[in-house]
Amino acid sequence: LIATGISANTDFLTDTSIELGINGAIKVDSKLQSSHMNIYASGDCATIKNIVTGKQDHIPTANNAVKTGRIAGENAAGGNKVFNGSVRTVVDKVLDLEIASTGIGSKEAVSLGYDAIKLIDGFSSHAGSVPGAKKIAIIIIVDTASRKLLGAQMIGGEGVGKRIDVFATALTAEMTVDDIYMLDLSYAPAVSTVWDPINKICGKAVLVLDKHRV
Ligand SMILES: Cc1cc2nc3c(=O)[nH]c(=O)nc-3n(C[C@H](O)[C@H](O)[C@H](O)COP(=O)(O)OP(=O)(O)OC[C@H]3O[C@@H](n4cnc5c(N)ncnc54)[C@H](O)[C@@H]3O)c2cc1C
Repeated sequence: LIATGISANTDFLTDTSIELGINGAIKVDSKLQSSHMNIYASGDCATIKNIVTGKQDHIPTANNAVKTGRIAGENAAGGNKVFNGSVRTVVDKVLDLEIASTGIGSKEAVSLGYDAIKLIDGFSSHAGSVPGAKKIAIIIIVDTASRKLLGAQMIGGEGVGKRIDVFATALTAEMTVDDIYMLDLSYAPAVSTVWDPINKICGKAVLVLDKHRV
């Protein structure tokens, strides 16, 4: 059985004053307040700000649901908390392969008007001196004008799930590939390589962008 695609189950709100947005999700502001001042929404049924695009998005993940739920609940009870948004980070494991992505893809970047480049490379998950290293393939999307990371995708046999979180953090902090290239990421032979694959792919982007500038 294969099921794909998610839309919010909000049919019962049609013809009410509660505005719906992308995928039928309830439109909310940064305080998770809907168009009805006494109704807050969170989780899969609500829109969410995409930090990379700056637009309202629908990103139905458990990690977003628990955070927006906490803030919507607090605000509904009189609080004044703001939810800054999501970079659309997802991960899964199929057999021995971890698959993950964060941010936007190259097609979306182009459709949003970025002059973006896409870099792809393969790396070893840890040093060759320790047996058992697995291959990791990484794609990054970078804005040539600002040199900021726009998105990353990864697949491999080890360490993908947690490495994508470094890219998610970099996207949230609006880091450039120059910053990520020099990021102090942990190293021990059984865990990584001296330059972590994240440093390496961003170093490659720096070279390409420097050539682009000449
Ligand atoms: C198979 C599967 C695997 C997933 N794996 C992951 C994962 O690995 N990582 C990840 O981040 N996300 C995952 N998700 C997504 C994640 O489960 C959802 O994003 C998250 O559960 C959303 O939480 P929620 O509270 O918004 O909605 P839900 O968890 O769907 O809760 C909504 C609740 O409201 C109840 N309800 C609905 N209508 C009414 C009504 N009219 N009156 C009263 N109650 C009602 C429902 O019965 C349900 O209990 C997965 C989803 C699925 C389906």
